[in-house]
Amino acid sequence: MTLTSSYQQLVEKQRAFFIANKPFSFAYREQQLLLLKSSIIVHQSALTEALFLDLGKSEYESYLTEIGFVLHELSLTIKQLKKWMKPEKVKTPLLSQPATSYIHSDPLGVCFIIAPFNYPASLCLSPLIAAIAAGNCSVLKTSELTPHVSEVLKQIINSVFAPEYIECINGEVEHSTALLAQKFDHIFFTGSSEVGKIVMQAAAKNLTPVTLELGGKSPCIVCADANIDVAVKRIVYGKMLNAGQTCVAPDYVLVDDSIKEQFIAKLTQRIKTLYGEDASQNPDFGRMVSTRHTERVGQLIDADKVLIGGDVNIEQRYIAPTIMHNVELTDEIMQQEIFGPVLPVIGFSDFESVLSIIQSLPSHPLAAYIFSQDKRIQNTLTVNIQAGGVAINHCIQHLVNPHLPFGGVGSSGMGSYHGKHGFDTFSHKKSVLKAATWFDLPVIYPPYKNKLSWLKAILK
Ligand code: NAD
Repeated sequence: MTLTSSYQQLVEKQRAFFIANKPFSFAYREQQLLLLKSSIIVHQSALTEALFLDLGKSEYESYLTEIGFVLHELSLTIKQLKKWMKPEKVKTPLLSQPATSYIHSDPLGVCFIIAPFNYPASLCLSPLIAAIAAGNCSVLKTSELTPHVSEVLKQIINSVFAPEYIECINGEVEHSTALLAQKFDHIFFTGSSEVGKIVMQAAAKNLTPVTLELGGKSPCIVCADANIDVAVKRIVYGKMLNAGQTCVAPDYVLVDDSIKEQFIAKLTQRIKTLYGEDASQNPDFGRMVSTRHTERVGQLIDADKVLIGGDVNIEQRYIAPTIMHNVELTDEIMQQEIFGPVLPVIGFSDFESVLSIIQSLPSHPLAAYIFSQDKRIQNTLTVNIQAGGVAINHCIQHLVNPHLPFGGVGSSGMGSYHGKHGFDTFSHKKSVLKAATWFDLPVIYPPYKNKLSWLKAILK
């Protein structure tokens, strides 16, 4: 049997299961979320070990960004689900009276969730939580670049779910290709913009809606009035987490010329203090996922522009925390998402040039970080930068807040999730109008003679 035909069978089985059981009661959905939670807890140490093997993640970082993140999302979802599932009552206009109107959140059907390598567990399980909560069946495709994590994810799923409800597929790209040839009811993709285009093209053949969580170049803007010590601390945290392989990592810094020297001095000092002279010996600093990615990021480093770091060890998949200066916008490092622990710092003289630099780069930022104490500056930049999300005086923390929708804009993605926003993404918002029969508004029916003035009075 070919991959395509075996996946066709899988999707058919899931669709039959969905049709037989939809819309899945609150009790059923809650039970599945509890099962997922217990399975993650049972496999917690295996997952921690796998994250270390694939990405050199410390136990602390694994809990912060993967296991704990997912458990927290599960707890919130379990707590809020009943409320989210309730039909939402809305107003009904005069012309449709007497009636009541509701928005029902319907499951979509069989969903396909494709995960990237950088947070291989949380970016697979977090959309799954939303898909289960919204009453769907799901096929998961894990990243081939993190084989140890993918194996544990398969165990987490297989030990509690039947394949006709949720199935986890591991393996190379050919599996994604064969799965993309199937008719799904929603595709939720997290990954690069290049593959996002392939996913969207495949989805278009079946008019399948997509959520695309993509990458982009996320700027950090450090203004003259910023608290420099706090900015340095938070930018280094956001950049060096997971060795820079975070979709919302600060990609580059734009710093006001008047504080540039002071900022750079503090930035380099912070890196030395945090990671020591040789970060490869520091247990809190991760590794690149593959030799190919190490080579790619290594090639972006121009030795003449390195202020600190710059060491690359392809075999060990290691790139030192690196700061670059004197970077031109035309340099290769400014033409693609860096996705590694290399931070270019560029000076600016006015906000016009900040906005024009951001706009001139090939992709829309997934996140923008503004460091300033001045509310007017914070507001002006927030309003004028077209980005998926903004954090003021911090990095990454907007993503961690489940009450905020997380997603991109333009080439950094479409759609959003986290908390209730994820439930909504995996639901169809069905309009329901329930009319009463005790009265009929005559104005809507022919003959229309002498009724136009009434209509005009109502529809004004
Ligand atoms: P990728 O696009 O290479 O791969 C993502 C997934 O797509 C993997 O499961 C892979 O198997 C699959 N895939 C790869 N090539 C394919 C093809 N030709 N056809 C079908 N499927 C294919 O991304 P990656 O390298 O794993 O992850 C890094 C990228 O993801 C970065 O650009 C990063 O910014 C982005 N990202 C975005 C978010 C977000 O939430 N917006 C989160 C994490 C990562």
